[in-house]
Amino acid sequence: MAKKEFKAESKRLLDIMIHSIYSQKEVFIRELISNASDAIDKIYYQALTDDSMNFDKENYYIEVIPDKETRTLTIRDTGIGMTKEEMESNLGTIAKSGSLAFKKENEIEDGHDIIGQFGVGFYAAFMVADVVTVRSRSLGSGEAYKWESEGEDGYTIDPDTKAEVGTEIILKMKANTEEEDYDQYLEEERLQGIIKKYSDFIRYPIKMTITKSKPKEDSEEYADFKEEETINSMVPIWRKNKDELEDEDYENFYKEKHYGFDNPLKHIHTRVDGNIRYDAILYIPETAPYDYYSTEYEKGLELYANGVLIMDKCADLLPDYFSFVKGMVDSEDLSLNISREMLQHDRQLQLIAKNINKKIKQALKKLLQDEPETYGKFYNAFGRQLKYGVYSEFGANKETLQDLLLFYSSIKKKLVSLSDYVSRMPEDQKYIYYAAGESNERIEKLPQTEMVADKGYEILYFTDEIDEFAIKMINEYKEKEFRSVSSGDLGIDTEEEDNKAKMEEDEHQDMFKEMKDLLSGKVTNVKVSKRLKSHPVCLSTDGQISLEMEKVLQSMPNNQNVKADKILEINKDHAVYDALKTAYDNDQEKFGLYTSLLYNQALLIEGLPVADPVDFTNDICKIMA
Ligand code: ADP
Ligand code: MG
Repeated sequence: MAKKEFKAESKRLLDIMIHSIYSQKEVFIRELISNASDAIDKIYYQALTDDSMNFDKENYYIEVIPDKETRTLTIRDTGIGMTKEEMESNLGTIAKSGSLAFKKENEIEDGHDIIGQFGVGFYAAFMVADVVTVRSRSLGSGEAYKWESEGEDGYTIDPDTKAEVGTEIILKMKANTEEEDYDQYLEEERLQGIIKKYSDFIRYPIKMTITKSKPKEDSEEYADFKEEETINSMVPIWRKNKDELEDEDYENFYKEKHYGFDNPLKHIHTRVDGNIRYDAILYIPETAPYDYYSTEYEKGLELYANGVLIMDKCADLLPDYFSFVKGMVDSEDLSLNISREMLQHDRQLQLIAKNINKKIKQALKKLLQDEPETYGKFYNAFGRQLKYGVYSEFGANKETLQDLLLFYSSIKKKLVSLSDYVSRMPEDQKYIYYAAGESNERIEKLPQTEMVADKGYEILYFTDEIDEFAIKMINEYKEKEFRSVSSGDLGIDTEEEDNKAKMEEDEHQDMFKEMKDLLSGKVTNVKVSKRLKSHPVCLSTDGQISLEMEKVLQSMPNNQNVKADKILEINKDHAVYDALKTAYDNDQEKFGLYTSLLYNQALLIEGLPVADPVDFTNDICKIMA
């Protein structure tokens, strides 16, 4: 067959791949063995569930064959094999279309991170080989094919003579260079070491013929002989005892499975031996996959029935708010023949899901307690998902999740938990205060925070759109209600301040009424502020909808034009207030101008759009002239 080119993007990605993705080239073996194991999983599952296939466990294995003479390394499996079409689509396009589409959309120059998030495992072969040949015969197919490529310039597919079902991957090793020794991957001992390190728990035998020597009869000399050995222990990692395993083993498993390209922050290994029996290894990743907060992202755990993989991503095992968790579950109590629809209603599975949910929650709580810094990392990546979890399903999961939430604190200048906050509350503080805004810097400057901060009370900063909505669901924590610093009633006014404001308002009743009329439809009230210290004006709100919530709701598609009830608050101790009063007494036009300016200023401070910027600037010019 004529040479076919890799798809254009594939070529560049392949280049990046070969030159930089894995710092350790030895992992190509892990990738190829893992693919072989996946392929055996598939045929094994069919053999077990299809009565017409005869089933013999002995038939399923992987062979690793180094040959120093030809400088080739062959990895052969008795898996399900590939048809010509499958070769074309699985080996002809590097990385899955998703990554490419994403890359294009986002114009990411340096594709490393993105690429790493995909199973580009097979291409790891090009890190060590000049030529990669794949010979394969698919189960139930009458023909075998050979795929061959020298890397970046393309590949060929031709008929082949391979007689048995399965796949054979032949790597023609690169020539040694000054920096790299490729011969090492043809050394039996080195290969054994790599296989032990990364693939020990692969459930099928990984066989290799090892050269050994024994003394010749009646002689001091030794003679070499060859013997086939199974290199791996074949005990799946989840069946091993925790104390036999190191963190590194769990990390290797995570990488081998492509659960993520990061290092997991935490692993949870559990074995349950009760009404329902299962083993699970769960991971909390360190970084969110690029598509995590999009509809593209699919949650789920691998599901095994007594050691046989039956599903790649069993979504029913994870609630949405823990959708970031990766890993696997193996249960003896599940039937192999179970279908996807049946699984959803499977009582065993529901029990497992419930258990797992509890485990994850416990693990996160413990992490927060014992390793707050690590938890902070986790929270940066996935905290928003927890907040969505609080908000969704009408707050049904808030009890589970509220103790896992963190918010930035005005006093501690770092993320704190609600329980921390409440434990620090002075006795006279009635509410848990928060301020919502675009960023911590913006919130810090909000006039509305002045009074609360002055009292020495801590304020939680809400910078995620979801924050206020989530908090509305929680409503109160440890019997303390939440209160926005912009809400009409802060619950901290002393009687004296109350009276002063009231007197001032009474004295200038007419002026406040006039301002309210001038701003009708824009604000529901104008009053003397009890919370401002140094700023001239601010907006506060009455009722359930805050300014930040209004912004979020307005930005939604087909929004219902929900508006917050806004109150314009004026600082009676500010010089501007005197100017306002003077204008009211002497110059109606000026008074109108001032009123409108103050209102627009308040909008700007809040990050809300000014209805007519041209009018606004004209107003300013009028004052300057
Ligand atoms: P992934 O394993 O994440 O799917 P890879 O790049 O490792 O990605 O492999 C790409 C695809 O090539 C696999 O999904 C599989 O369909 C096919 N493949 C690779 N190796 C084998 C093999 N030994 N037997 C059968 N199919 C294979
Ligand atoms: Mg793979």
